[in-house]
Amino acid sequence: MGDAKVGCMQNHFTSVGSEMTDGDHLESGAPLPTMTDKNFRSTCQGDPRLPATVAPWMIDEIRQQDGRKVHDLVEQYGSPLHWINPVPFEKNVKNLQEIFKQFDLDSDIFFARKANKCLTFVESMQKLDGGVAVASIDELIQVLDFEMPSEKIICTAAVKSRELVQMCVQNDVTIVIDNRDELSLAAEISPSAKIAIRIGGFTHEGTKLQTRFGFDVDDVVSIIQKHCNLSVEGIQFDLEGCDWNQRVSAINQSLPIVDELREEGHPVQFLDIGGGFPVNYLENESDWDEFWTEHFSALQNRRPPITFQNHALGLGIYEGQIYGDANVYPFFQSPSQNEWLESILNSVSDDIKKRQLQLRCEPGRALLDGTGMTAARVEFVKERTGPCDDYFIGLSMNRTQCRSGSDDFLVDPILVKKSQISKPAKKSGYLVGAYCTESELLSLRKLHFPNGIERGDIVISPNTAGYFMHSMESRSHQFPLAKNYLYREDRLDDIDYLA
Ligand SMILES: *Cc1c(COP(=O)(O)O)cnc(C)c1O
Repeated sequence: MGDAKVGCMQNHFTSVGSEMTDGDHLESGAPLPTMTDKNFRSTCQGDPRLPATVAPWMIDEIRQQDGRKVHDLVEQYGSPLHWINPVPFEKNVKNLQEIFKQFDLDSDIFFARKANKCLTFVESMQKLDGGVAVASIDELIQVLDFEMPSEKIICTAAVKSRELVQMCVQNDVTIVIDNRDELSLAAEISPSAKIAIRIGGFTHEGTKLQTRFGFDVDDVVSIIQKHCNLSVEGIQFDLEGCDWNQRVSAINQSLPIVDELREEGHPVQFLDIGGGFPVNYLENESDWDEFWTEHFSALQNRRPPITFQNHALGLGIYEGQIYGDANVYPFFQSPSQNEWLESILNSVSDDIKKRQLQLRCEPGRALLDGTGMTAARVEFVKERTGPCDDYFIGLSMNRTQCRSGSDDFLVDPILVKKSQISKPAKKSGYLVGAYCTESELLSLRKLHFPNGIERGDIVISPNTAGYFMHSMESRSHQFPLAKNYLYREDRLDDIDYLA
């Protein structure tokens, strides 16, 4: 579908939600209604709509002085600006701690720092007697600078230099060993290196879960017998995706390895089940289902596209059939975090307890749920060429500043208008970013602005703290990195002052 009509269809925005009525039938010149808890979403919606779960503090911040505060902070610190609030983070940690307690399990939670770089979260983990999982030498140095106790740090870096392993050994930090080269390196550096062994290749429902990480579950014991003269203190795995049943399979296949290594004399104290705790970004499952129904229709040319140039979001289409899996995070899912962990523990907690084994986990995304949002300023709204009734909306932001491995961030942004009075005629289009490529879209979805959109307005993406803010950020084109504003403390996170 490469023709000029693609993406230039009529405005198909018909599903006017109840929240939209306020701003919709105004006398010209009358001010727009004040933002309320109910209508704050009404000024920006996708088609179909994907209303986000928005934490109350975000709504409160967006409503401060009818949006003036958000505008002023972006003016002060630059666009885009990330908001960070550690309070919900701490609540998320405590919720998980509470569940472990209910199951009477010896447990420890290590925050996977790579999911958000802000140091306020390291401080929170320290306060809550949790730990941090580090994935690089600089993450490690920063955590050590916080005087985090060594037993509360675990190094899970995917590739480990000698310098990193050395620094772990010097500071008594446990290293999660991924392969035989790392095992030899650690042993060469010190016979007292603290190590855990990463394993993978578990069988789930008759299929082996392929992975690039770790020792294969089927040969790990014999490899350790033959080649390991260090003491193994723990077993770790981290699985792709969010299927709790797979975690149960992996735990059930890890426990016999714990037993065998203990019989060999290794002081195995913990089993670490990694991350992947699911997060739900959307209010309603029905919106998510409708999105996919409409997207499939669009890909089969049964309706106008709902993504830019009918972008497939990773799906394949051949002769009207749709193949493969979409390359997007499951933005709606259930069960999320707490029930998910409970489902796992219901199946395995007895087997773990009877071995007097500590259960550890390394959540990243789930601890960051509800802790951050990203705001960027509109710099232009320009007509698309061709027979379009929509616009390109240029933001002072690039695509690495709100992005993960997903093809798109599938939630509706929130528009904070610069003026409560003006009602520009420009009412729909695509958000484009500052990189000089045709593909630089900030969202692939066509968005609708019932009260119009203009230069100086602010577009906010809610719930971006897990991965979206930092995991892809880049200084390409010499754009500065976005700043991280600590809500409540009214200052930037310390990470913004490090080189
Ligand atoms: C990324 C990562 C995590 C965190 O994953 P989430 O999906 O954010 O919970 C945990 N452990 C390891 C080893 C990782 O690489």
